[in-house]
Amino acid sequence: MYLWNTTRRLNAWSDQCRLRYGGRIQKVSVNAGFSCPNRDGTVGFGGCTFCNNEGFSPSYCKPSTSITRQIDMGLSFLRKRYPRTSMFVAYFQAYTNTHAPLEQLKSLYGEALSHPDISGIVIGTRPDAVDEDILGYIASLSHETSYVKVEYGLESCYDDTLHRINRGHSFADSRRALEMTADKGIAVGGHLLFGLPGESRERMLDQVHLINQLPLNSIKFHQLQIVSGTAMAQQYREHPEAFELFSLDDYLSFMVRFIGHLRPDIMVERISGEVPLPYNEGISWGRIRADQVMVRLEELLAKGNTWQGKYYEAG
Ligand code: SF4
Repeated sequence: MYLWNTTRRLNAWSDQCRLRYGGRIQKVSVNAGFSCPNRDGTVGFGGCTFCNNEGFSPSYCKPSTSITRQIDMGLSFLRKRYPRTSMFVAYFQAYTNTHAPLEQLKSLYGEALSHPDISGIVIGTRPDAVDEDILGYIASLSHETSYVKVEYGLESCYDDTLHRINRGHSFADSRRALEMTADKGIAVGGHLLFGLPGESRERMLDQVHLINQLPLNSIKFHQLQIVSGTAMAQQYREHPEAFELFSLDDYLSFMVRFIGHLRPDIMVERISGEVPLPYNEGISWGRIRADQVMVRLEELLAKGNTWQGKYYEAG
């Protein structure tokens, strides 16, 4: 069994933060006004069929507000909610946060990192929106700040699914971007969606072997939620039979199996998403929070005497 120095049955990112940095790392979301190459025509129009960034962004994240002010507002809220936080990092979350000329990126990231209460940066982006110059610059930031990570939306390891949801990139693009990023010594995060149309439970589970081959430091898993205002919401209304959305119990059973095969050194940052209820047009799990879903998963891992990587075979 891989040892990650906690008594838990999965390699939780929050535990590693406590071990490595002495406490909770809290992300402060900022919206720097980026667009997305899959919306502005660089690679496509319309965006991914599941995407509605309004559904995922805190209300204080408005590009009309300066980054410094967004951080100030985020900190005043997050300090009350998470009083034991030891370190705050700026989270460039909305849209594609490397989709701009390098000089502009330097200015935007620089403003966030010059905030006296910010000790790191997490940059969310697409696998086809990075290059050697951008990654070289991001790597250089680790000399001036404690925590630097690039977080990629992978969503699926299957090209037919990526095409179906209009991602505009392939799994080979994902692999290439992650390898380039890891080669530069930057921490690499990934995001995977479970429940996309066309993917059976077994096919979703099989992805774990592809995920295990990627140079990932951490990963977030989300169940597919049907978000208002998206192309997918329209598809769901027209053809609900094409979707096999997860109930909470079904999802937890699936995650027990997935986690059992997941490479043990990949830190699990979250296992479920929380789209605000008014935005959710699919199956509702009620008001259960992501941390409560994690507790339920860990109870099931214990009950089944299984853990992250129990069935993982290197090689
Ligand atoms: S999910 Fe990301 S890549 Fe897809 S349309 Fe939305 S912002 Fe663009």
